[in-house]
Amino acid sequence: MNSLAVPVSRRQALQSLGIGAAVLAFARPPALGAPSAAEPTTQPFTLPPLGYAYDALAPHFDAKTMEIHHTKHHQAYINAANKALESRPDLRELTAEQIVARIDAFEEPLRTTLRNHVGGHLNHTFFWKILAAPTDYKPGPLQAAIARRFGSLEAFQKEFATASLGRFGSGWSWLTAKDGELDIVTTANQDTPLLQGAQPIIALDLWEHAYYLNYQNRRADYVQAFWKVLNWDAVEAAYGGVGTI
Ligand code: MN
Repeated sequence: MNSLAVPVSRRQALQSLGIGAAVLAFARPPALGAPSAAEPTTQPFTLPPLGYAYDALAPHFDAKTMEIHHTKHHQAYINAANKALESRPDLRELTAEQIVARIDAFEEPLRTTLRNHVGGHLNHTFFWKILAAPTDYKPGPLQAAIARRFGSLEAFQKEFATASLGRFGSGWSWLTAKDGELDIVTTANQDTPLLQGAQPIIALDLWEHAYYLNYQNRRADYVQAFWKVLNWDAVEAAYGGVGTI
């Protein structure tokens, strides 16, 4: 699918608003792996349901943290993103993924606002979808690919933990797929790997708001607990959405 798939009426509308090729080039849907957030990422952005109870991840991720994280922190990113975009009807048709994909095309201070808050919305939407462990997961192609890339699941988890502890301040750690290669990366603030053209497969929020009530300064314990609540079916699906690697 290419930009020619944009309906003619919308193409003309965008052009009449002075939005040229830069927007049209990003008008195609991004090749996001499932579980992407197709509906919540259209404007105005809205808080997606978790799909499980706030206490579903306890005691590893406690209910109070999950509730505050979802209803206060994630909602705050959504509110700020919507507020920044409400005076820009010319951008109304862009999804969150499309905004991130063309972030360099925006002028400051809008660029930084969108990078932080649209990024925050995308990151949290993805994070909620890969939590809540199924009871009947059977290792699939992702775990096989992880073993090939990192030597073993345990070696991968150790490397992921080291990266997570090495991220100074607030940010995220990720397993990403880019150009057919799995990689562990970390990002600062609310930056998403999509900014670098990499697809998120596994995400872990490293902001203190994600763990402070339960773990205080013990980020290492929080990272260990993450494996207890990771939904391997969901991350296998995210990997499947990227294609064979
Ligand atoms: Mn967070």
